[in-house]
Amino acid sequence: MGQIMSRCDECGSEYLKDASKMKHLCPECAHRLYGYENCSHEFENGRCKNCLWDGSSSRYLDSFKENDK
Ligand SMILES: [Zn+2]
Ligand SMILES: [Zn+2]
Repeated sequence: MGQIMSRCDECGSEYLKDASKMKHLCPECAHRLYGYENCSHEFENGRCKNCLWDGSSSRYLDSFKENDK
């Protein structure tokens, strides 16, 4: 079974295409920007085992984080 990788337009991380509901966003960004269900990330060697997101973020997303506090 081939795992199709895609690159997130927002954070620049590679991710497993099938793990995300959105075409050009990793599960994390799709969740934070659009409220889609997030992957329950499990990190191993710097990457999530489930969606292969590498933990990247973007300035834009970080600004959301700060607003949450
Ligand atoms: Zn992303
Ligand atoms: Zn994940």
